[in-house]
Amino acid sequence: MKPLGQITVVCGSMYAGKSEELIRLARRALYAKKTVQVFKPSVDRRYDETMVVTHMGVRHEAVPVSSVDELRSKASPDTQVFCIEEAQFFDSSIVDFAVEMADAGKEVVLAGLDQDFRREPFGPMPELLCAADEVIKLRAICVKCGRPASHTYRQVDGRPAHRDDPIVLIGATDSYEARCRACHRLRGKPNKRPTTS
Ligand code: ADP
Ligand code: ZN
Repeated sequence: MKPLGQITVVCGSMYAGKSEELIRLARRALYAKKTVQVFKPSVDRRYDETMVVTHMGVRHEAVPVSSVDELRSKASPDTQVFCIEEAQFFDSSIVDFAVEMADAGKEVVLAGLDQDFRREPFGPMPELLCAADEVIKLRAICVKCGRPASHTYRQVDGRPAHRDDPIVLIGATDSYEARCRACHRLRGKPNKRPTTS
């Protein structure tokens, strides 16, 4: 029988441990003697261009790609486990890639921010969460009160970011913090959510 593929999505706020979990799963697959490829969007120049590096400095080699098409062109047919970092920065065709690969018997692990600093869904993450067989949602610790944090707070010039501030893809990490819902702050009126009929 052909191996049964699966999609695992690791999500949560910044500092929740998504990269650590992705690296843990990649290493585990290597111990199981599976062939693994790790990809990350080349927009993420946080620490190192060809590595996934966590906030604690744990690192793993990763292939930087600027689009899903480039990811596809660098995906080897022999790979059994695809690990994809910062999945929120890819367009929605990442969902098709994940589903195709899982249908073909591959394991696909995607880590990404489920919410942006406005606490709104980030890029293709909602669709990925929907397509996933397994969802691992992690929480950081709120830097203000020490309780579990599901949100990413953004500070601009010493003040909470305005809702309409452009989403800086990867910025100075010191302007982002993990915060709980009680401590999260944002300027500007909430957008009205689209009504569903
Ligand atoms: P993510 O990929 O979700 O941004 P990382 O895997 O890069 O997270 O880093 C997670 C690690 O960051 C934690 O294990 C912890 O050591 C460290 N860390 C720093 N700040 C925080 C925080 N506010 N809450 C939890 N962990 C934190
Ligand atoms: Zn808090």
